[in-house]
Amino acid sequence: MSKIVFFCIPAHGHTNPTLGVVQELTARGHQVRYYSYHSFQEKIEAAGAEFISCDAYDAELNLTPKDAEKIGKDMAFSTHVLVNTTLALDAFVCEDMKKFRPDCIVADSMAIWGKAAALKLHIPFVSSTTTFAFNKHSAKVMKQSFGELFRMIFSMPKINKDIKRLQDYGYPIRNIMDLMQSDPETNTIVYTSAAFQPCAETFPDTYAFVGPLVRPVTAQLTKNKKKLIYISMGTVNTDMLQFYQNCIAALESTDYQVILSVGELVDTGAFGNLPENITVKPHVDQIAVLAQADVFLSHCGMNSVNESLYYRVPLIMYPQTTEQGGVANRVAELGAGIFLGDDTNTEHGGRPSAASRSHIPSPAQIRSAVESVLHNDSYRQNASAISDSFQNCSGAKGAAEKILAVCNQKN
Ligand code: UDP
Repeated sequence: MSKIVFFCIPAHGHTNPTLGVVQELTARGHQVRYYSYHSFQEKIEAAGAEFISCDAYDAELNLTPKDAEKIGKDMAFSTHVLVNTTLALDAFVCEDMKKFRPDCIVADSMAIWGKAAALKLHIPFVSSTTTFAFNKHSAKVMKQSFGELFRMIFSMPKINKDIKRLQDYGYPIRNIMDLMQSDPETNTIVYTSAAFQPCAETFPDTYAFVGPLVRPVTAQLTKNKKKLIYISMGTVNTDMLQFYQNCIAALESTDYQVILSVGELVDTGAFGNLPENITVKPHVDQIAVLAQADVFLSHCGMNSVNESLYYRVPLIMYPQTTEQGGVANRVAELGAGIFLGDDTNTEHGGRPSAASRSHIPSPAQIRSAVESVLHNDSYRQNASAISDSFQNCSGAKGAAEKILAVCNQKN
C-alpha cells in the first residue's frame, strides 16, 4: 500500500478531475490524504480520501474561489498569494509530512505549496494540470499577449522579493519558474489528450496526457426541436445581461430550441416573457444538455470545452479571459468551432479575436455564428475527432498508475 498526499487550490475546475483519481487509488487500497478547503470536504471524502483542512492557515489571506480565479491572470498577485499561502502552511504541512511520510505528493500546478513541500522535504512529486501543459512552444499557441508579458516583466522585482521569502524558509527555489512551470523531469498528469494539447510532441514521456475526466450523462433531457442551441458563460463571470438579451433577440424567431444558463448574478425576471423556444435558467445540468445539443456558445472555460467536445458538440467561442482565449484558439485551430463575430472569416488559423473579448456581439452576429456552425458539418466532425482522442485516453486509471509508478520508484 502506498501513501499519497494531494494538494489543490479551492476551485471546482481544479479539484473535480482529481477526484476520479483519488477514487481509483483508494479503491486499490492505497491511502490518500487530501489538503483542501472546507467547501470541498464532502466530495473529497466521498472519493475515499482523508480530508485535511487548510482553511485555518488561510483565514488572513482569504483565498476565496474568486481569488483563485484571479490567480493565473495576474502573475504578481498570483505569486504573492501563493507564496503567502505556502508560508502560512509551512510549519503545519512540513510537520504533518514528517509524521505521515508519504510516498508521493500530487499537487495541482497552482497549489505551489505542495510542490514547495516536496522540494524541501525531498518527497517524490507529481504535478497535476487541469489546463493545457505549458512550455515555450505551447505558450506560443496560447498566444500570450504583449500587454501581459509587459506586465509580467514589470512585476518581476515584486515576485523576486517573494521568492526570497521562500528561500529564507528553507525552500530550495531559484526562481518563480521552479514553482509555476513543470520542467521536463517533473512527472506531470495533464487532464487532456495529446491530440488536444498544443505542441504535445514537445513534451517528454514524463507527461501523461490522461484525458479529461468528464462525468457521464445521469439525467435525460427531452429535445423538442430538431436543433438545440446551448449558451453558457460558465459559473464565474456571468453578469452579462445585455449579451444574454442579444442571444434571445438573435434566436427568438427561429425553429431552434435554445437553453440559456445565465448564472446567479442576473435576475431571470429581467427577461420578461420568453418566446416558447427559449428557456433561461441560472444553472442547468450541462452534461444532460450537451448530450443533446447541436452547438454550444461558450466562454471556453476548460471544463466546458472538454465537456462539449467529449459529447461531440462544436463550439461558438466567446472567451472573456486570456486562459479561455488560449483554449478557444486551440478549438479554432482544430476546426471544432468559430469565434463569435468571426464567422465571415473561418479559416482554421486559431487567430485570437480581440473583437470577441471587448464588445458585446450583436443579435445579427450571434445568429450568423449559429447558422455557420449548424450548416457546416466540418465543425461537428472535428469536434468528434477530438472526442475520440479523449475516449482513447487512459483516464483516472492512467493517472493512478502514473502516481503509483512514482511511489514505487521511491521504494
Ligand atoms: N456548469 C453546469 N451548469 C451550468 C453552467 C456550468 O453544470 O449551468 C458546469 C459545467 O459543466 C462545467 C463548470 O460548471 O463543468 C464550468 O467550468 P468552466 O471551467 O467551463 O468555467 P468556469 O465556471 O470555471 O468559468
